[in-house]
Amino acid sequence: MSGFGVLFVLLTLQQQPADLIVLNARVYTADVTRPVAEALAVRGGRIAFVGSARGALALVGPRTQRLDLGGQTVIPGMVDAHAHLLGLGQALRTVNLVGTRSYDEVIARVVERAKTARPGEWIRGRGWDQNDWADTRFPTHQALSSAVPNNPVYLTRVDGHAALVNAKALELAQVTAATPDPTGGRFIRDSAGNPSGVLVDGAQGVVGRVIPAASHAIPSASTLAAIAEANRWGLTGIHDAGVDADGIAVYEDLAREGKYDLRNYVMIRSDDSTLDAFMKRGRQIGLYDGRLWIRSIKLVADGALGSRGAALLEPYSDDPGNTGLITTTPERIKSVAVRALKAGFQVNVHAIGDRANRMVLDQFEAAFKEVPVADHRFRIEHAQILRYQDIPRFAELDVIPSMQGSHQTSDMYWVPNRLGWARAQGAYAWRSLLNTGVVIPNGSDFPVEAVNPLISFHSFFTRQDADNFPPGGWMPEQRTTRQEALWSMTLWPAYAAFMENESGTLTAGKFADFVVLDRDIMTVAPEEILKASVVMTVLGGRVVYRK
Ligand SMILES: [Zn+2]
Repeated sequence: MSGFGVLFVLLTLQQQPADLIVLNARVYTADVTRPVAEALAVRGGRIAFVGSARGALALVGPRTQRLDLGGQTVIPGMVDAHAHLLGLGQALRTVNLVGTRSYDEVIARVVERAKTARPGEWIRGRGWDQNDWADTRFPTHQALSSAVPNNPVYLTRVDGHAALVNAKALELAQVTAATPDPTGGRFIRDSAGNPSGVLVDGAQGVVGRVIPAASHAIPSASTLAAIAEANRWGLTGIHDAGVDADGIAVYEDLAREGKYDLRNYVMIRSDDSTLDAFMKRGRQIGLYDGRLWIRSIKLVADGALGSRGAALLEPYSDDPGNTGLITTTPERIKSVAVRALKAGFQVNVHAIGDRANRMVLDQFEAAFKEVPVADHRFRIEHAQILRYQDIPRFAELDVIPSMQGSHQTSDMYWVPNRLGWARAQGAYAWRSLLNTGVVIPNGSDFPVEAVNPLISFHSFFTRQDADNFPPGGWMPEQRTTRQEALWSMTLWPAYAAFMENESGTLTAGKFADFVVLDRDIMTVAPEEILKASVVMTVLGGRVVYRK
């Protein structure tokens, strides 16, 4: 083709009308070459143009849809770099009873859920506490049973040491006045010996064991509910931290049917059968129109700090003699790493304590020596407690610390008790890590924490909780900038998933994934951030959530 011909084709392509133009917006692109714009255009699910209103209007054709945002804020679709979608689905199916002020309120919430339950489906709930009610005696099942007669109901008390069940559940478990109390457990009974519906400790298992394991149909429904929940909070993508073959099968079924409104970068579980199956299949990039990526492996090196299972180099300050638990051997981490490097997979290892982090860095280093790969992008998930001398090793080894802003603000109240103040200096050390040249993909770890990604965005640059505590921030020298916090939810997760050419910024050619917010989170006072709400979430140019 002549030079003129090439130019002609380029001009024609450029002038093809857009499917959608967005006007009158404050667009934060996260792209350093054009950080702010007022308009954008979408064609074929991708960004066709970012810039001035005039430039976007030039792409209007007869079928172009116009969206005038009246000055509202647009940011790239947010991505949670460490979350558990199936866990969120389960949590959404569990009736939340925390904070109920009466038995009537408990019943009302269960009745609400029963409206969408299939016939005979078990309804589970959690969090009631009769000490919060006007009548602090244990409830009895009759009122619950008459309100919900057709579905078995199992409601765990706030402490997990008792449950309330309805008549249907007692019937399925064949619990009657004649049923003896099990060892280590008790059925609360009326004066005639009939079970009241409250099961204490070991008695919970008598009913619990007749609850069937989740069937295939329930994960599909709960996965769709979890995706909708993620969209509602402005997420267009997540990195799913450990999914087994069954879970991935559910995802693929939904994605094949075009129902999967999320870009999911799936980390596969590292049990032998899952590993063998998926490494044999090879890495999968952007399956089903950019919905599923299967090219990374999740391992777990230690426990968590709250339960003193995180592996520390020195004992816990509040538990002398305990240094936590290593849950995967160094040999196993190295062998999976070597195998992954050879197959072009990424390895993402959960490590919270300083001992676990050092061990994983050591094993990664040994694996890289054995199988040199230029662009492996191996990750440590959490990287919460680091020794000073280990901080530069992330940059040296090209290992990405994948961290969660929400953990810092949830844990800060008791971290000094666990670690002492000296060791706490290396906790959630965002600034120290960024200064070495790494990027930090941010996440929530939902459903362990709330889904709202703005919580982690906010804590990255404030080191404060939702109530702006503590004043000035917890170890404020570790704060990021607000711009870095934006990248931590957009560009950096994209990089950590090898997706920076497809997403992470609002740039022509990338996926048209963006979020409209009712507040300008890049300029409002920090204490206004968590008042912002998502007006619209757009995935591949299509609205998947609208307020
Ligand atoms: Zn997790």
